[in-house]
Amino acid sequence: MKPAAFDYVRADSVAEAVAALVASDGSGKVLAGGQSLVPLLSMRLARPSVLVDINKIPGLDHIRREGDMLAIGALARHETVLRSPLVQQAVPLLPAALRYVGHRAIRNRGTVAGSIAHADPAAEAPAVARALDAELVVSGPAGTRTIAAADFFGGYLTTALGPDEILTEVRIPIQPPGAQVAVCELARRSGDFALVAVFTALTLDGDVITSARLAVAGTNPEPLRGTAAEAVLIGNTVTAARIVEAAAAVSAATSPADDIHAAASYRRRMAGLLTRRALAATVGTSTKGAAA
Ligand SMILES: Cc1cc2nc3c(=O)[nH]c(=O)nc-3n(C[C@H](O)[C@H](O)[C@H](O)COP(=O)(O)OP(=O)(O)OC[C@H]3O[C@@H](n4cnc5c(N)ncnc54)[C@H](O)[C@@H]3O)c2cc1C
Repeated sequence: MKPAAFDYVRADSVAEAVAALVASDGSGKVLAGGQSLVPLLSMRLARPSVLVDINKIPGLDHIRREGDMLAIGALARHETVLRSPLVQQAVPLLPAALRYVGHRAIRNRGTVAGSIAHADPAAEAPAVARALDAELVVSGPAGTRTIAAADFFGGYLTTALGPDEILTEVRIPIQPPGAQVAVCELARRSGDFALVAVFTALTLDGDVITSARLAVAGTNPEPLRGTAAEAVLIGNTVTAARIVEAAAAVSAATSPADDIHAAASYRRRMAGLLTRRALAATVGTSTKGAAA
């Protein structure tokens, strides 16, 4: 199919892009990498009256350290972010996760901010944003505001972004030195969206877990933060039994639905299994033989 007719505006500044969205009266859409939006247009699942192309806005593709935060501009592409030595050192969970986003061609165009704005529950970047308590900087007609990731995602493909707002920057707290990260993802084929994916970042002092961050993609209408599992881990020593307990807490927190890709019960079981694997890989232990 071909997209329905739309007008096209190439914005030269964030203010111009916001003005074009305001003028569209809620029926415009931002075009970033186009890797999610263009297929939706082609299938006529999205019919915006105007596409507001932000790709030529100068100064939106930055990746930089600002105090204790890593700032990623709206036009930073997945591949650039995952290859950035700064990102690898400051928030290693993000590049570990972005490796699983589609294929190289998709990662060369798609943006981390676009993925977060799109809010696909199976996507990697929104889950990392939840796990690491990212802040989303948004510009709109009323000015600029910052939204915590915990308040940003509102269900399937739904966020706190207003129809005339643009996500201009993703800010992620720099992780403590020595954070151990793991991503365990189940997909039918390499490059497909995840059926289930688990993202973990742990900091240890000896064998005591001092900080734990865990998120799951693919099981809930929005990325799931594994707070109950984190509570099981933080302040405790790493044992196979504790990993199994944390994995059970993750399974219990999922609320998957049956769909054409997998049964709900399968996704729930896989969330627990992948959590066991991710945590065991992070701390270099085995849960084989531990009671489920
Ligand atoms: C074959 C294929 C496989 C894929 N596999 C995966 C995968 O495994 N994991 C994964 O996470 N993604 C996957 N994707 C999607 C890809 O990662 C997209 O890049 C990403 O979801 C959206 O980023 P984008 O910059 O392309 O956004 P666009 O497609 O341009 O926009 C997506 C949506 O977000 C809005 N938007 C974009 N940027 C902003 C902004 N700055 N402010 C406000 N709104 C904005 C748009 O209006 C639109 O509604 C895949 C895509 C394809 C085609």
